[in-house]
Amino acid sequence: MSPVTAPSATRPDEATAALQARLTAAGITPSLLVTDADILEPHLRDWRGWHRGEGLALARPRTVAEVQAVLRACHDLRLPVVPQGGNSSMCGASVPASGRPSAVVLSLSALDRIRHVDASGWNLVAEAGCTLGAVQAAARGVRRHFGLDLGARDTARIGGLVSTNAGGMGVLRYGTMRDQVLGLEVVLADGTLWSGLRALRKDNSGLDLKQLFIGTEGTHGVVTAACLRLHPPETHVASLLLALPDLASANRVAEIALRLGGRALSAMELVPGMGLALAAQVLGGPLPVPGNHAWNVLLHLAGEEQVEPLAEAIASGTIEQGAAVDGVLAQSGAQEARLWALRDAFSEAHRLLGLSFRFDLAVPVGKITDLAEMLMPPVLGLAPGARFFVFGHLGDGNLHVSIAQPERADAATFATLRPAIEKVVHEMVWQMGGTISAEHGIGQLHREELALQKPPEELALMRAVKGMLDPKGILNPGQLLPD
Ligand SMILES: Cc1cc2nc3c(=O)[nH]c(=O)nc-3n(C[C@H](O)[C@H](O)[C@H](O)COP(=O)(O)OP(=O)(O)OC[C@H]3O[C@@H](n4cnc5c(N)ncnc54)[C@H](O)[C@@H]3O)c2cc1C
Repeated sequence: MSPVTAPSATRPDEATAALQARLTAAGITPSLLVTDADILEPHLRDWRGWHRGEGLALARPRTVAEVQAVLRACHDLRLPVVPQGGNSSMCGASVPASGRPSAVVLSLSALDRIRHVDASGWNLVAEAGCTLGAVQAAARGVRRHFGLDLGARDTARIGGLVSTNAGGMGVLRYGTMRDQVLGLEVVLADGTLWSGLRALRKDNSGLDLKQLFIGTEGTHGVVTAACLRLHPPETHVASLLLALPDLASANRVAEIALRLGGRALSAMELVPGMGLALAAQVLGGPLPVPGNHAWNVLLHLAGEEQVEPLAEAIASGTIEQGAAVDGVLAQSGAQEARLWALRDAFSEAHRLLGLSFRFDLAVPVGKITDLAEMLMPPVLGLAPGARFFVFGHLGDGNLHVSIAQPERADAATFATLRPAIEKVVHEMVWQMGGTISAEHGIGQLHREELALQKPPEELALMRAVKGMLDPKGILNPGQLLPD
């Protein structure tokens, strides 16, 4: 029998009253719990608008002690708890999964203090509700750099970024969120506080417990604060967009850029002309390179020394060797910001395509161009005229693939093709030794496929750990682990 038990079914009004009574008895102000439908509603819908859960209430604690009180009460009452940060999850992980009307959404957004910045120790301690942008600014304030960056920087919060092990643009140089975390403070399912806010770069004193909470999507515990690693400042930066003769040339560009750019190379994005055109529609304004080539690579170099000569060497090296046919090196901060704003707008730009099926795939580095090319014929066989919006993090083997309805096609008819298209894409990725979730997580969107990707013994281990940390199964049920 599975050690993970389903939360008990209780009538919503009774459950709310019981929860409120427990919190009052614990001395918690009644305003912490919100049941107003208008306030609750945006917390039940995910960012993409694909998932809408039901829920009893929104809990918005301001202190760690209040987080503990909420969890203790929900644990006693066996109420599902859905930790939520900025609610920018791409896989429905941050809203209650279906069939859980007594879920309590636990928003960490009010826990938003930077507790401590230690410039000489190269770390800071941020509470779970701090946005990524706030952490980046706090690092800049002491001439340090925080290594993670992504388009949702002003929405996504530290607890969510830890719990999804977010990736984004800087992984090539700094690694994923996991690589930024030195220590964590976590409230467990029963309200127990684990204070693991260590600032150590090296610690071989047994099991690295923080790893149990990184990338496990709020199913193992509620992160309340993180001690985060800082890096030297990016005093000098340069950005370069290279237009390619064809998709396969992206690998040659990567090879040359890595060789010439070395440690200064901090982002290397595969950027389709289609994405630039759509993003320019969203933002307004011109395209960066006249003629808009089908495939491009966007590079970012940064360091404490001048990096522009490196960018120039990459531009001339790739063009001389025929790996690139054109390019633009940003000449000002405004031009650089424009290049990255276009890239940041890709998620938003999808809305212009109508219905699209989106995949966040990873294969071994160097194989993403093969994957992109191999995917198209079988998908077009199933959905003639389907449009491909393919982009990704070239240096990380991470390809975002969106397969959009043909122009003027009926979305409802296209929707019926989803299972067949997903099967083709997923099987191809598994055959290439890849994964169906590179950085967005599993959530409720992919949990059935997880059962197909992972061997049974791996799933059994995951279930055993979950059962040990959350025996009543109250933390984010219906997410991540398949039934
Ligand atoms: C425009 C846009 C661009 C994006 N770009 C990228 C990208 O480049 N790379 C990338 O990796 N992702 C990207 N994302 C996805 C998203 O921003 C990340 O998954 C992010 O980590 C989610 O943070 P959040 O605070 O919004 O978490 P939420 O969406 O609120 O929650 C995400 C998960 O974490 C859990 N959780 C949240 N807070 C806590 C906590 N304190 N303790 C325990 N569990 C918690 C939730 O239960 C849920 O399972 C993008 C999203 C958008 C909208």
